[in-house]
Amino acid sequence: MTAAMETIAMHPLHPRVRQLLAGRGGMIIDGEHVEAASGATFETRNPSTGALLTNVPAGDSTDVDRAVAAARRAFEGGPWTNVMTPDDRSRALWRLAELIGRDAEIFGQLDALDNGKPLAGARDVDVAYSARHFRYFAGWPSKIEGATIPVSVPGRFNLTVREPVGVCGLISPWNYPLLMASWKIAPALAAGNTIVVKPAEQTPLSCLHLASLALEAGIPRGVFNVVTGMGETAGAALTEHLGVDKIGFTGSSEVARLIVRASAGNLKRLSLELGGKAANIVFADADLDRAISGAFWACFGNNGQSCTSGARLYVHHSIHDRVVDGLVAMAAALKLGPGMAMAAPDLGPVIDEAQLAKVLGYIESGRRSGATIAAGGQRLGGPLRPGFFVAPTIMTGVKDEMDIAREEIFGPVLCTMPFSDVDEVLARANNTPFGLAAGLWTRDLDTARRFAGKLRAGTVWINTWGDTDAASPFGGMRQSGYGREMGREAIDLYTQTKSIWIG
Ligand code: ADP
Repeated sequence: MTAAMETIAMHPLHPRVRQLLAGRGGMIIDGEHVEAASGATFETRNPSTGALLTNVPAGDSTDVDRAVAAARRAFEGGPWTNVMTPDDRSRALWRLAELIGRDAEIFGQLDALDNGKPLAGARDVDVAYSARHFRYFAGWPSKIEGATIPVSVPGRFNLTVREPVGVCGLISPWNYPLLMASWKIAPALAAGNTIVVKPAEQTPLSCLHLASLALEAGIPRGVFNVVTGMGETAGAALTEHLGVDKIGFTGSSEVARLIVRASAGNLKRLSLELGGKAANIVFADADLDRAISGAFWACFGNNGQSCTSGARLYVHHSIHDRVVDGLVAMAAALKLGPGMAMAAPDLGPVIDEAQLAKVLGYIESGRRSGATIAAGGQRLGGPLRPGFFVAPTIMTGVKDEMDIAREEIFGPVLCTMPFSDVDEVLARANNTPFGLAAGLWTRDLDTARRFAGKLRAGTVWINTWGDTDAASPFGGMRQSGYGREMGREAIDLYTQTKSIWIG
């Protein structure tokens, strides 16, 4: 930590967090905390300060082999799939949810340190949602039903059962470290699978703690393994492994293409939740106060590091300047600071130096293409300088064909664009290879219904943004991926149907 950073008062570390950072906790394979077979480690750093947090095992294909073998043993012969009843599995998952709640401060601090996001949001939103997610899926083991089928073959009885897929490799991103991992882990376990999780290398800490709690909750050894390491080594090994039956992935579309190829060897099942460039449309009749605040947080929530970030804002020309003025005023009032700062910042830094360079590069590319920077546009200096802070940036005069309007920036950059005609804005909103989320602000029910039907996105928000719930399916159309996480459909992702005939 530099001298400048010492002037910012930070939350004291929870004693357990201090221990986790000091100790060489290791990965979790077959219920044991282990080092990488090679002995290699990598650094995980605090993006708020640039300071080293701890060293984590750098797993490679040897470690993935060990973890997959443990998961396979647990699946084929262990109690989780073969002895424990649906009620037993429910109770274990419920206990895990309770333990997440018990350790909310620990998880909040781990994600605030590793990701940089403000502690209050990490603890009260991400961790609370993760616990809720496990509680929701804790109810599922006793509800995964098959059917009896009225077949027309004389003298035959036909029924279906839903069986777990087997060993699932779950690869998660760094933007909501605990929550994105939980989105996959809870339904995979509820369906009776065993798992190998590969958390993002930027943010491995909360997932390691979750795996420890799974053991404490009574989930047997080998069921929930974690291999930490780089995407190109540990992640790639998992996606290629012939002993893995399914990959659940959240991340970039580029990496998803690698995963599709890598999974070809044994034709793994895949579910992919990928990037986006969500369009958010403010109509002339919208409740402007709600729309301005909604559009602001749609883009800048989690610092724009969200696959549903409402980064393309289309505003009816009659209200465009008022909306932009409102957004600029909000940006000016925003407090940025380290995730662990006592001062409760609104937003933290971006995740690392590479992301900082990428975001600043896009801002510069927008400026060079003729867009105007109405707010932000630069890295923050002063006491925040060692961290990777970018001022929330609002660009006006953006054209649909500019890179900043087409490509996912995954940072705090909002492109505002006026429109005049309803059909025109619908076509422009849909003119993207992505299709994860879209939204609109209007008081007109016909417009709302029409756009809900016509926007090509897996989620459409009307007069709101960003809501998700463990019970509601979430996922992308087009190059934003396939498969729906959460709700009943998540159970479909982690089960397969067997048809049984009785003569
Ligand atoms: P982001 O751009 O948000 O960092 P990535 O798609 O690069 O997203 O990373 C998401 C997750 O995918 C991380 O856990 C990362 O380690 C992993 N990953 C990266 N490259 C690969 C790969 N070639 N194979 C498997 N997983 C990978």
